[in-house]
Amino acid sequence: MANLEARKIEELKRGFKGEILLPSDGAYESARKIWNAMIDKRPAVIARCATTSDVVRGVNFARDNNLVLAIRGGGHNIAGSALCDAGIVIDLSQMKAAHVTPDARRVTIEAGATLADLDAATQAHGLATPVGINSTTGIAGLTLGGGFGWLSRKYGLTADHLESAEVVTAAGEVIRASATEHPELFWALQGGGGNFGVVTRFEFRLHDVGPNLLSGLIVYPFADAKSVLRQYRDFALKAPDELTVWVVMRKAPPLPFLPAEVHGKEVVVFALLYAGDPTQGEALIEPIRRFGTPAGAHVGVQPYTAWQQAFDPLLTPGARNYWKSHNFTKLDDGLFDALIEFVRTLPSPHCEIFIASLGGATSRQRPDSSAYGQRDAQFLMNVHGRWESPAEDQRCISWSRELFKAAAPFASGGVYVNFMTADEGDRVRSAYGGNYERLSRVKQQYDPGNLFHTNQNITPA
Ligand SMILES: Cc1cc2nc3c(=O)[nH]c(=O)nc-3n(C[C@H](O)[C@H](O)[C@H](O)COP(=O)(O)OP(=O)(O)OC[C@H]3O[C@@H](n4cnc5c(N)ncnc54)[C@H](O)[C@@H]3O)c2cc1C
Repeated sequence: MANLEARKIEELKRGFKGEILLPSDGAYESARKIWNAMIDKRPAVIARCATTSDVVRGVNFARDNNLVLAIRGGGHNIAGSALCDAGIVIDLSQMKAAHVTPDARRVTIEAGATLADLDAATQAHGLATPVGINSTTGIAGLTLGGGFGWLSRKYGLTADHLESAEVVTAAGEVIRASATEHPELFWALQGGGGNFGVVTRFEFRLHDVGPNLLSGLIVYPFADAKSVLRQYRDFALKAPDELTVWVVMRKAPPLPFLPAEVHGKEVVVFALLYAGDPTQGEALIEPIRRFGTPAGAHVGVQPYTAWQQAFDPLLTPGARNYWKSHNFTKLDDGLFDALIEFVRTLPSPHCEIFIASLGGATSRQRPDSSAYGQRDAQFLMNVHGRWESPAEDQRCISWSRELFKAAAPFASGGVYVNFMTADEGDRVRSAYGGNYERLSRVKQQYDPGNLFHTNQNITPA
């Protein structure tokens, strides 16, 4: 453990309200596990913070002892940047308190909360802010990279709803960033990732949502893939902002509404949510049901929070994962040909390709309105290489990379920073486009020594 003397650890523990976990502690092994089982890092110290002042202690300790520092929110980032080898992890996973002010349509929530924690707190008042589609994801990393999901075409990114943030800087100061306090930092936090400090608390604007909304799945046999994908493309571009339809191509799980002969076979799934009056939604989704003859469909009015958890069983922690992602301004036939070919050679039943539909409110802001620079993205493809055993690593990683290469000629060149793997540091500039230089100047102001570098790193100007 990086020559950290016991005396220093004792100093860190003094007054620390949370837990300091060392490799010799029983809870250490589970505390160093994150969503992607490919990541196997051994920090010297895991500082499980309970309060903002714990975070300050952890940051000061890392800086003063020249330790590598990683920040853990929900632990979902595919790149494994929530952990580090030999350094200190500022682990926020126990800080989850939420407070909703319904009249003001605001929520403040601590940075260790998951999307499920946020949705539960806000939906108790019939309110929500747009977040991602897997409820165990952390609100912190999601927001700091941008954040989008079923409500984003109607309302925008999660980061677009940030009202203020409490931040512990590299110097160990606690500051509040908002449009009027540290405005450049606030701009950078809306997409610039964990580069600028440890966020301990977020404040978001909320909308009236649900609580019951039309949502579900319409599934087509893979033989119809080309035809239904082409119809989807035209449909999605004309759809109102309230309607969001994503595509998932994979081997069909044994869902009860699918005939047994489809289970385990390749399928095209249209996953949808209508963020408005369900009756109007039913009429609007009718064309999807007529793209061909569905293998099955399961669409109905259900609690928004239930739909927010619908994909959790397919996205459980503990599997090995390698992802590749492109943004698109349009979907070409050539792209469909490439995807179809690769779905025919899925290297594991857990691998899948999904196409998220963005556009709508996510595209109506100027690219420099916040650090998130990908306002032109109408669609995003994520290749979910996912499998169980290390013996499959090579095969599944190669498949993901080859598919990524085959899709590249049709992509915009942009990428969503939150879907980048650990070996994609060279894409950070593409992720930020014209915003990179400004981010680099903000980095110079708030973290000139690059203490916060265990991330998709923006280097100080
Ligand atoms: C199954 C799955 C589904 C997903 N679905 C979506 C989706 O629908 N939409 C979407 O937009 N994204 C989605 N994502 C991507 C997700 O947004 C990123 O993985 C995000 O980084 C997760 O945040 P986290 O807090 O869980 O991650 P962590 O791994 O804990 O953190 C990731 C990084 O964020 C930074 N960070 C975390 N907490 C803080 C903090 N408090 N202060 C400062 N920096 C911090 C650090 O740099 C850290 O390395 C998904 C990811 C997974 C694994």
